[in-house]
Amino acid sequence: MTPTPATPESPQPRASVAAMPPYVAGRPPVARPGLTTYKLSSNENPYPPLPGVLEVAAKALEGANRYPDMGNVALYAKLAETYDVPVADLAVATGSTGLIYQLLTAFCEPGDEIVHAWRSFEAYPIAVLAAGATAVPVPLAAGGRHDLDAMVAAIGERTKVVMVCTPNNPTGPALTQTELDAFLARVPPHVLVILDEAYCEFVRMADAVDGIATYRAHRNVAVLRTFSKAYGLAGFRVGYAVAPAPIAAALRAVSLPFGVNLVGQAAAVESLDRKAELLARVDALVAERTRVVEGVRAAGWEIPDAQGNFVWFDLAGAPDRIAAFAAAADELGIMVRPLGDDGVRVSIGEEEANSRLISLAGSFPH
Ligand SMILES: *Cc1c(COP(=O)(O)O)cnc(C)c1O
Repeated sequence: MTPTPATPESPQPRASVAAMPPYVAGRPPVARPGLTTYKLSSNENPYPPLPGVLEVAAKALEGANRYPDMGNVALYAKLAETYDVPVADLAVATGSTGLIYQLLTAFCEPGDEIVHAWRSFEAYPIAVLAAGATAVPVPLAAGGRHDLDAMVAAIGERTKVVMVCTPNNPTGPALTQTELDAFLARVPPHVLVILDEAYCEFVRMADAVDGIATYRAHRNVAVLRTFSKAYGLAGFRVGYAVAPAPIAAALRAVSLPFGVNLVGQAAAVESLDRKAELLARVDALVAERTRVVEGVRAAGWEIPDAQGNFVWFDLAGAPDRIAAFAAAADELGIMVRPLGDDGVRVSIGEEEANSRLISLAGSFPH
C-alpha cells in the first residue's frame, strides 16, 4: 500500500521535526543455519532479569485492566530508600531516554543551546531537535574521552543544558570524580548539567564518579540512571532521575501520564531488592569485558578504556572498513553496531559471542 502523500495544505510539523535523524536501533541477529547468532548491537544484558523479577512482573499483569499507579508510589519509595534521597528529588520515566526528552523539553525554548560531546549517545541529537533546541556538539578528545575544556568553552549565552555521558556510549571511557568536579566548578549555576550514568554499575576504576554524591553537592545536576543495562530490563522501559526537587518537579510536570507501566514498575521495585544478584552478574560481565579488551589488544588493536558493557573500534574516516568489519561479524554470527563514519561498537554478551569477537579482532586487518 502507498503511504498518504503530503499536500501543500497538509499540517506542517516544526522544521526541527523534519530535520530529525531517525534513531537507528541495533540490528537483531540474522538466523544462520547451523550457527547460534548473538545480538551485540544494543548494549543489552545477555542475562535474563534478576531471579524472582519475572514472577513479580507476571503477577502484576493480573491487574492489566487497570491503569498503573500514576504516582509510581512503590518505585519512588524504593528508590528513595535505596539512595537515601527525598522522593521529591526523584523522577521516573520510560527509560532514561524518556528522561532526556523530558528534561530538554522542560528546560529549553526554541533556539536554546545544548552542549554535548560527540560522538556520544545516539539519542542526544534527536532529543535536542524534538525539543526544538539547537545542539552544540563538541568533538571527543583522544581516547574517546569528553573534552571537558572544550565543552566549558562551548557554553554561551543561549546554553541551557550540558549533557555529560559517563561512561561515554559508544567509546567507553568514564570521567573521574576529580575531572567532573573541576568541570562542574566552571559551569554557570543556571546551566543544567545532565549526568547520564546509564552504565555506572560497570565502572571499575580509581576515582570513579559517585553520581549521587555529585547530585548532593550541586543545585544544577540531574543524574540519570536506567534499569535497561545492568539490571537487564531493557524491554520494560524504566529509568529514573535523581535531581534537586525543582528539577525533578519540572521532569514530572512534563511526563506522560501513566508512562511507566504497571509491569515495569513492579519489575523495577523487585530488582532494587536484588543487590547481591545484580552485583554478581555485573561482575561476571566486567570479567568478560576484561577478557575481550585484553584479547582485542593482544591482537594489536588500540581500543579505548572500556568502562561500560561494550568496546569501541575506532575506524574514523574509513567507512569501507566499518562496513567490512560489520559484515565479517555477521559472518561469525555476531551483530555489531556500526556508527556512522566513526567506528563500530560491540556489546559484551554471552561468552561464546565474546570469544567470536576476539577471533574477529585477530583476523580482521587493523
Ligand atoms: C542505553 C542508554 C540510555 C538509556 O536507555 P533507556 O533504555 O532509555 O533507559 C541512556 N543513555 C545512554 C548513554 C545509553 O547508552
